[in-house]
Amino acid sequence: MLLYFCNMLVLDGKLVSAAVKEDLKAETQKLISAGNRAPHLAAILVGSNGASETYVASKVKNCEEIGFISTLVRFEETIDEATLLAKIAELNQDPSVDGILVQLPLPKQIKEQKVIEAIDPSKDVDGFHPSSAGKLMQGLPSFIPATPYGIMMMLEFFKLETKGKHAVVIGRSNIVGRPMSILLSSNIPNGNCTVTICHSHTHNLKEICLQADILVAALGRPEFVKADMIKTGAVVIDVGITRVTDATAKKGFRIKGDVAYDEVAPLTSAITPVPGGVGLMTIAGLLKNTLQAYKTNNGI
Ligand code: NAP
Repeated sequence: MLLYFCNMLVLDGKLVSAAVKEDLKAETQKLISAGNRAPHLAAILVGSNGASETYVASKVKNCEEIGFISTLVRFEETIDEATLLAKIAELNQDPSVDGILVQLPLPKQIKEQKVIEAIDPSKDVDGFHPSSAGKLMQGLPSFIPATPYGIMMMLEFFKLETKGKHAVVIGRSNIVGRPMSILLSSNIPNGNCTVTICHSHTHNLKEICLQADILVAALGRPEFVKADMIKTGAVVIDVGITRVTDATAKKGFRIKGDVAYDEVAPLTSAITPVPGGVGLMTIAGLLKNTLQAYKTNNGI
């Protein structure tokens, strides 16, 4: 059921991700019934960062829910780079593994870029390998980083018009902002926007945001986007997830997005909540990429 408040549509990630997972589960069951093995995602977690633990546990749980196999490989925070690279090499060679993800961030002694580049591009279900990023930029089939992929699925699900719109993306990271700007500006369904990409050196950010028909906030600054930055009727996609200390919360923190939801939502035509918005779609993107890797690598 679609939720509207005063003509404002809540872009409910639970609804969309449940629909995507339902499709993936049905397809997986069909593949298994036809005598194939289940798709297999291997996740590597280094250390015991609270947020990373939560993300990886959720990815593993979601795999199991739709009938994928998942393997969680855990290493101590003190692990050296060579040991991690050796494990990735082993998973690259393992024909029973379709997708590999290494949960970021990694401890200081390990170079993230080296780890990203060590993953076989055919198993790069996070879409962070330069080969995947290059293909995305050229409009070739590739693994789309899970968060932007999830956002594109959301735009499609809710039939939000993007063609010819001005999209403003705040943030230019390789995992969210930059691929998001490429997708929105590409000549694809749910693309064809005119895109402005902003970052920490952007002048007049507020004025630029005020011109946005679609605003994607991916900067990691809790409640940074305020009502005075929003054009009436804009679509607002809040990617931010920050744990903000709050002694009154059961866990001692609350999850905050990059958008001040209560003051911004009434001005919008559609907005993602945090939590319950983009975060759930990120997992849907990862699962779709894993099935894609499985099919391609097994000639299905
Ligand atoms: P990141 O790598 O830290 O990138 C942040 C980007 O925001 C950078 O490009 C930075 O500019 C820009 N920025 C920072 N402060 C700014 C400011 N005051 N004005 C304009 N631009 C500013 O972060 P990320 O990995 O992209 O993640 C962004 C947020 O999304 C975080 O809260 C993260 O937790 C969340 N996230 C959520 C999901 C999900 O599933 N919902 C997935 C991934 C990430 P410079 O390039 O100039 O430094």
